[in-house]
Formats: sequence, structure tokens, C-alpha cells
Amino acid sequence: MGYSVLSLIANALTGQRGWTPAWRDAEPKPFYDVVIVGGGGHGLATAYYLAKEHGLRHVAVVEKGWIGSGNAGRNTTIIRSNYLLPGNEAFYEWSMKLWEGLEQDLNYNAMVSQRGVLNLYHSDAQRDAYARRGNAMRLHGVDAELLDEAQIRRLYPFLDFDNARFPIKGGLLQRRGGTARHDAVVWAYARAADRLGVDIVQNCEVKGFLRENGAVSGVETTRGAIKAGKIGLAVAGASSRLAGLADLKLPIESHVLQAFVSEGLKPMIAGVVTFGAGHFYISQSDKGGLVFGGDIDGYNSYAQRGNLPTIEDVCEGGMALMPALGRVRVLRHWGGVMDMSMDGSPIIDRTPIAGLYLNAGWCYGGFKATPASGWCFAHLIARDAPHPVARAFRLDRFATGRLIDEKGVGAQPNLH
Ligand SMILES: Cc1cc2nc3c(=O)[nH]c(=O)nc-3n(C[C@H](O)[C@H](O)[C@H](O)COP(=O)(O)OP(=O)(O)OC[C@H]3O[C@@H](n4cnc5c(N)ncnc54)[C@H](O)[C@@H]3O)c2cc1C
Repeated sequence: MGYSVLSLIANALTGQRGWTPAWRDAEPKPFYDVVIVGGGGHGLATAYYLAKEHGLRHVAVVEKGWIGSGNAGRNTTIIRSNYLLPGNEAFYEWSMKLWEGLEQDLNYNAMVSQRGVLNLYHSDAQRDAYARRGNAMRLHGVDAELLDEAQIRRLYPFLDFDNARFPIKGGLLQRRGGTARHDAVVWAYARAADRLGVDIVQNCEVKGFLRENGAVSGVETTRGAIKAGKIGLAVAGASSRLAGLADLKLPIESHVLQAFVSEGLKPMIAGVVTFGAGHFYISQSDKGGLVFGGDIDGYNSYAQRGNLPTIEDVCEGGMALMPALGRVRVLRHWGGVMDMSMDGSPIIDRTPIAGLYLNAGWCYGGFKATPASGWCFAHLIARDAPHPVARAFRLDRFATGRLIDEKGVGAQPNLH
């Protein structure tokens, strides 16, 4: 059913009994043209665009748990396109453009809120780096403003401006950046894909690949074998494990990232603010909770849970930026497993195995990429050619040296 003001009124007047399930709980069929492994935002968006943009009707998304149970439902919901490097900027700006039309396209309130993303700088050198990034963005037609200290004081008077160690000198603002409700994005893509005939098969874990003459021809799952013309992997933190089942070794490490939500407060933080002298970012949800996070754990892990030392580290960053945080109670926190690539940029590419396609390496920035990732992965799978804005996200760049090291920190996943 379509969602509209009229359907809201009609259901309000009839005891809310007219709503139908947003998507079918599909049974797996023996064969599909394309099977997407992973029912996160990227997998569902890929399936949706395969059906909508490329006319494919025999598509399934297989998910080991419930859709959105991975990072799609665990992130801090920040969306932005404030990148420096040419390989990244066009892609993330395309994602931002898709966010701007997403709710109309999917007929779903995903609470996309362009409330602004502000990166603070604390030294002259950092200001120069941000000015360079802002200029690169503007050359790509993306909005960017360099604010000075007085402008930031007017926006966020309660930040610790005069901290002797981390004085706030200004910030780079992208007003079109902001937040979107993460699970609503998953549900929106699931519903829209389902309406185009995509089968969403939950509680269906992929345990291996069927092979014929070296190519993949299907997946072995906990609900039986499913044959497929093509298979796309979009399993985020499980990428290296899944690729391992196909004897592929990826340039990816898995690390845990935690997120935190405080008790509900009156409105105090209008947009997204990131601390430039440590790793800490914060925004406020529409319910009033402060949503914040920081660094990944230093060691590799597939465990979807956080630990105390990182909680302490994140809270220290928060206190250095905003001492008032010390009086706020944290209500919830959780962890997600990040697919950290060696240069901090993603991979949307064919693999050396015929029929097997890879979408991975999103580090902790893949939520904002969800629409463009799905769009470009669908393009790659349907046409066997990379989409122009994702051309740089090749798997072989780690061999050819064409890295996209946005932060210039080298092969150090914890620094990306
Ligand atoms: C705490 C935290 C904060 C973050 N903050 C931000 C942010 O503010 N902004 C931003 O842009 N990004 C952020 N991210 C990153 C972002 O969430 C991810 O990069 C993005 O969600 C990854 O793509 P996805 O949604 O498809 O992944 P997921 O939702 O993880 O989807 C992958 C799916 O694959 C499934 N799967 C795994 N193995 C199998 C198997 N064998 N068979 C079948 N299914 C399988 C999983 O169950 C999962 O549902 C954050 C992540 C975390 C954890």
C-alpha cells in the first residue's frame, strides 16, 4: 500500500486496522538471476536499484538474521559528502543527491534531516587542511563554508573554546550534511524492493558457494542451496569471512565500533559536530538523546559488542570538547563490526571469480553511502561495468598502488 496523508487519515478513522505488512517474508526459490548476500542498507538498496533501474525481476536478498540487524541499524546516522579526493567526492555527492530525493522516491519517511555537519579545527595547520578540503568540495559543486571561532561560538556557545590544549579556532561546515533515521532507511528500501518483486529472505545464512568451472553458480545457505546467475556480497563486517568461503583474501580488517545514546534532553545540538583534536562526533536525535561515538577498537574482532577502555576513550574526547557532557547519563551503547579497508575507501568491484561481485570496505562511513553504493553496485552487476562515480573503488588498487587514502595515514585501519 502507498503511504500518504489520506492513508493516515483513513487508518486513524478505522482503528489502524488497514495497514498491511511493509514487505513479504519470502521463501527462497531455487534460482534467481541475482542473489545479494546481506540485508543491510547496501544490499537492499542494490536489490531495489537492480529492479528499478535495470529491470531485473528475479532478485533475492538473503540475510542471516533480520534485515538491518548489522551496521545499518547500529550507526550514528551521519550523512555528508565533505570529501577531498576526486575518487571519493563525486561518489559521496551522488549519494547526497540521492538522499535528497530518497523519501519521495521510496514513499517513506526516513527522517532525512539536512541539519549540517561541522568539523571543528583547533590549529592553523588544521584550518589550512580544512580550507583545502572545502575548496576541493566547492570545485566539485558541493557546498562548504569555513567558519571562524566567533561564528562557532554563536552556534554552540557551550563548547570548550578556550581549552588550553584543544582551543577551538573554527570549523568546516557542510550545511547539506546531516542525519537520517537508519532503520527507516532499511525498511524503506526493503518495502520498495519488495514492491518490485525482490524476495527478501531473512534467517538465511550463507555458508558456502556453489561452483561450476571456477565460476560461482549459487550459494549454500541454512535454508538450502540457491542457484544464481550472479552473486553480490554486501555483508560489511563479515566481508573477509564470506570472501574466505570463496577462497578470496581481502585487503580488509574487521574492527568493532561503538555508538552511544544519552537520556533525552531539551534541544541543544542543532547539527552534527565533530571534534578535530580527537575522535569524537555528536548529534541529537529528534527524541532528544545525544547520539555520539569515537574511535574503533584497536584490535581485530568479529564480536558485535564494545568494551570499557573504548567507552572511556570516547567519553574523554566528548568531555574535552563539551565539559557539560559529564552530567549526562548514557542510556544505551552497542557495537558493530566494521569492514576497515587498508586505505579507508570502499570497494565496489568484480572479484577474480566469475559471477561474484564485491561491495565492502566501508569502514565507519558506509551509512551515508547507502544510496550511491546500492546504485553503483546494481549498475556494476547489471552491466558488468563500473559506474562512472565508483570507478576508483577497484579491488586491485592495493596491487596497482592507485590508493584512495582520504586521510593520508597509510595502511592503518584504526586511523581511517
Ligand atoms: C557504531 C557505528 C557507527 C557508525 N556511524 C556511521 C555514521 O555516522 N555515518 C556513516 O556513514 N556510517 C556509519 N557507520 C558505518 C555504517 O553503518 C556501515 O558502513 C554500513 O551500514 C555498512 O553497510 P550495510 O548497511 O549494508 O551493512 P550491514 O547492515 O552490516 O549489512 C550486512 C548484513 O550482512 C549480513 N550477513 C553477514 N554475514 C552473512 C551471511 N553469511 N549470510 C547472510 N547474511 C550475512 C549481516 O547480518 C548484515 O545484516 C557506523 C557503523 C557503526 C557500527
